[in-house]
Amino acid sequence: MMNEVSDVVLPFYLTGEGATAPRIRGRIARLHHAQDAILSRHDYPDIVAGLCAETMALTSVLSSMMSFEGVFTVQAKGDGAVKTLMSDMTQDGDMRCYAAFGDDEMLQSAYQGPALLPRLAGSGYMAFTVDHQVTKRRYQGIVELDGPHLGDAATAWYKNSEQLSTLVMTIAEKTADGWVSSALLLQQIAVSGGKNDEDDLYKQPEELDAESLDLWHTAMTLCSSVKTDELLDKNLPLADLVYRLFNSLGPHIQPTRPITDKCRCSPQKVEVMLDGLSEEQRASLADDNGQLVVSCEFCKTDRTFDLTAL
Ligand SMILES: [Zn+2]
Repeated sequence: MMNEVSDVVLPFYLTGEGATAPRIRGRIARLHHAQDAILSRHDYPDIVAGLCAETMALTSVLSSMMSFEGVFTVQAKGDGAVKTLMSDMTQDGDMRCYAAFGDDEMLQSAYQGPALLPRLAGSGYMAFTVDHQVTKRRYQGIVELDGPHLGDAATAWYKNSEQLSTLVMTIAEKTADGWVSSALLLQQIAVSGGKNDEDDLYKQPEELDAESLDLWHTAMTLCSSVKTDELLDKNLPLADLVYRLFNSLGPHIQPTRPITDKCRCSPQKVEVMLDGLSEEQRASLADDNGQLVVSCEFCKTDRTFDLTAL
């Protein structure tokens, strides 16, 4: 499908005009209905929901940069009104999100001014984690929160870890038709490395020739021309936007990856968690009739357990 407008990540690459070898890999995502369903259940204040939407857009593009079987997580921790932003995604695109934040007064005081993230999260850090399901291996990258958008922290992380030059943009907006967010990522590809090594968070930097550097700078300039309205336009197919932005740089579209509103919680997982508690701990969580309600922080599903029957 080439005309998808939302709830997908569209991978693409740029070869430069008239060339055939990929020089820049790209990802563009737009989230709408799946993300709006997640945020509707949470019913967070708008200011928090907006950051969650950006977090989900970021999660979708970063996870699509890696091949893994398991879970990719983006978690931001701050010392401001918003304490935690967390979003994770499986290799199949099952996504969920959660936020922890202070009281209304703290949030209200952060409403003033244009840049949302620094005012809300204060100083903090962002962590990217890949948990491999089969091997149980875990990779984690950490960077300070810096800049007005979550994508800025991701850009800084790539830069700090001395990888190939990477640009990550994220944006979110509440519309009459629900929350829409978008993320755009561009990354240099070393010419010698024909095959992308995508099996972990870190990529080795390699020398780039002058032509590749030139192409990269042109792509950066074109990126800076992209309008928020274009990224968030629910009627503009992502492929069309890629062609519109990078038409002069030999864009090649790859198959999209769907993003779905799907939590990984289950009654079995909650039972395992309850089994890990002592009898006293369980009793302290239950009501007078021995009923214990466990609510999933991600999807808000309530599950009731009868302690007398466990
Ligand atoms: Zn859940």
